[in-house]
Amino acid sequence: MNDIINEILKLKKEKNAVILAHNYQIGEIQDIADFVGDSLGLSQQAAKTGAEIIAFCGVHFMAETASIISPNKKVLLPDLEAGCSLAATINADQLREWKQKFPDAVVVSYVNTTAEVKAESDYCVTSSNAVKVVEAIPPGKKILFLPDKFLGQYVSAITGREIEIWNGACHVHEKIGDIDFGEAEKVHSQAEFLIHPECGCSTSCMLKSQMYHDCRNVHIYSTEGMIGYVEKSDAKEFVIATEVGILHRMKKIKPSAEFFPISDKSVCEYMKMITVEKLYESLLYDRYEIKVPDEVARRARLPIERMLSIV
Ligand code: SF4
Repeated sequence: MNDIINEILKLKKEKNAVILAHNYQIGEIQDIADFVGDSLGLSQQAAKTGAEIIAFCGVHFMAETASIISPNKKVLLPDLEAGCSLAATINADQLREWKQKFPDAVVVSYVNTTAEVKAESDYCVTSSNAVKVVEAIPPGKKILFLPDKFLGQYVSAITGREIEIWNGACHVHEKIGDIDFGEAEKVHSQAEFLIHPECGCSTSCMLKSQMYHDCRNVHIYSTEGMIGYVEKSDAKEFVIATEVGILHRMKKIKPSAEFFPISDKSVCEYMKMITVEKLYESLLYDRYEIKVPDEVARRARLPIERMLSIV
């Protein structure tokens, strides 16, 4: 393993590349990466570097987002099959058809969407800023929210807005089933419960957690907020409601604490498709390049910029 890691580091230097790893990547990939984080944050960090190549260890829409934000950099995704079941629930044609039914509506898209869907949207949101962005839209405006139904329901519940919601969900949620927070609370009575809603698999937890807000240690955070919370908290035990990959980063930050996933079935197979070997070959052969066509990228950049002007 050390040999291949050394080769990757050598190639990275020779090719002036930066390696990004999403929080849900396997531990070995997280350990080699220059930056570990959530999809939008990673793309923004990569844009600030002088790197010519971005090796994105994540899923397809994330590499597209990096290409939208850094059109002059070459973006590589080590495995083309690494997709996202949530992003796949809606394509640009379906969105155009939906918009025709509500011609005056404002389209709000979660970041887990293809570049073409972003290009058809008015605002992009992450789970941590979706409420703020929706609150900034004038009250009388109809809102179409996509693709994650759980995040849409959550935003509607918090803002009190009536929202048309796309019926999309991530397959990881389907695998987990209905999480029983009460059961988890009995088993881990002293633990802090951290819910990271960045990916569709956990947005149902986010919705459900509203019931627990006033009565126990449930906290909803973005990835970085979650990491910051772990750093500062004195708790010895945490229950984490999101994809299990983030536990690797948390254990590194606080080896003295214990971390439990709310469900060990909370695993995204797409994220785990990226291996050290595939990353090596990706850097060696410059594959697989993800390039969003200029016109689509120009239009897809607008909802991201609108979001950033609000948050
Ligand atoms: S966990 Fe779900 S929403 Fe996140 S990348 Fe995997 S399939 Fe997509």
